[in-house]
Amino acid sequence: MSDTTGPGSATGRSATPDVTLTPLGGAGTSVLVDTGYARVLVDCGASPDLAAFDASMLDAVVLTHAHPQHADGLAALVRNGFAGSLIATPYTLRMADIGLRDALLTQRENEGPAAVAERAHTRTGHGPALPEDDPARVAVAVAALGVGHEFGDPMVIAPGIACTLHRAGHALGSAWVHLDLGSAGTVAISGDLGRHRHPLLRHPEPFTHADTVLVEAAYGEGRRPASDDRDHLAHVVFTTLDHGGTVLVPAGPVDHIATVLFELARLRRVGCLPGGVPVCFDGPTGLASVGVWRDALLARDPELHDSVLDAGFGAFDVGSLTEVRTARPVRHASGAAGGILIAGPHHGDGGRAGRHLRELLPDPRNAVLLQGRSPVGTAAHALARGATEVRIGKDVVPVRARIAHLPGMTTHADAAEIIEWLGRGTEPAMTYVVHGSPGARLALRNRIRDTLDWNAEIPTPDTSLVLPATAR
Ligand SMILES: [Zn+2]
Repeated sequence: MSDTTGPGSATGRSATPDVTLTPLGGAGTSVLVDTGYARVLVDCGASPDLAAFDASMLDAVVLTHAHPQHADGLAALVRNGFAGSLIATPYTLRMADIGLRDALLTQRENEGPAAVAERAHTRTGHGPALPEDDPARVAVAVAALGVGHEFGDPMVIAPGIACTLHRAGHALGSAWVHLDLGSAGTVAISGDLGRHRHPLLRHPEPFTHADTVLVEAAYGEGRRPASDDRDHLAHVVFTTLDHGGTVLVPAGPVDHIATVLFELARLRRVGCLPGGVPVCFDGPTGLASVGVWRDALLARDPELHDSVLDAGFGAFDVGSLTEVRTARPVRHASGAAGGILIAGPHHGDGGRAGRHLRELLPDPRNAVLLQGRSPVGTAAHALARGATEVRIGKDVVPVRARIAHLPGMTTHADAAEIIEWLGRGTEPAMTYVVHGSPGARLALRNRIRDTLDWNAEIPTPDTSLVLPATAR
């Protein structure tokens, strides 16, 4: 565990240790902050680094939000000895619990019980064993570490490190993080920023100042307007249902399902989604996720747009939402002639979405709706690029179903919105562009240099950045 003396204490040491930021590999969403006295991890997307990571030395983990790329390393951290505080907004903690349970169950379904038992037997974790690898018990162990932290309240989360969360407008409870590291200055970490036209949430709280900024570039290259996508969505849903087909929407339980339901509810209001069409979520966590949003509506949470607050539960009213557990098309499960099926993961690789793709793709009556961008190498990415066949697990599946790619239907800020967010604040000493494809990071770095005239770099994963001491 960390030294309990803070950087401002009289320690008798001759030199102050370097304060470092280390962007970890994998999705590029995790950053290790090490002051020499304390260590904090901001976000923990699954990464090869986490598998061999002695997490017992962490004082705290801060979650910006609960999307898988930012939180799906939580189980590995706890298995590897993490026993510090898990800091996030209350909504993010609830969504992280839902996402973790869903991910662990999906992993178990994909691997089968024999593989799970083998992994539990052979792993070399640093922490207390969770030999049963029971998803519920792992989730409980993670949830026990959670410390809810409201927006705007500075909080000392480790010796010499104060953290303030600010509204990011990307997912319910999502935050960008401001860290005060004492003599090493201040650091802002964007997490994922919301887009200005987010259908449900208000704009991100603007950046103000930090000496060092780490900013995401998931959509650093720009995108199409969403209005085209809404028309496309309405046309595909209406015509597919009219022909008795099934519409599959790959979407995970953490927030993606809420945005899907919001769009379907809008179609219902304008008559493009006939009454009685079954809308099903395949998995045990979809309704729990919608329940978190319903709680936010009941609390009239200020994160939500006024229009969403005014709509109340009607914002997600698709008639009936059923939670099912089936590998068969929804029309078989429901007995109806067609329907809408939502299943994770968002990128369609494996899990329940993978099983449904295997069954639905060969039939031209069906349609698959792909929102936003998907990581290279995933089934959704191949489908969006027009693949005529796609590999699902061990099978090569012909693609005869209609593929509707809706790249503008995302809750991510694009490059112009990120630049606007940054430009509301004062210039930092350095801005590092993290999280995004190499092309997106390069485009955003150049735009920061050209538009804002700020120092901007793309850090090398797993390479520590030493922060300069600031005069205070
Ligand atoms: Zn996200």
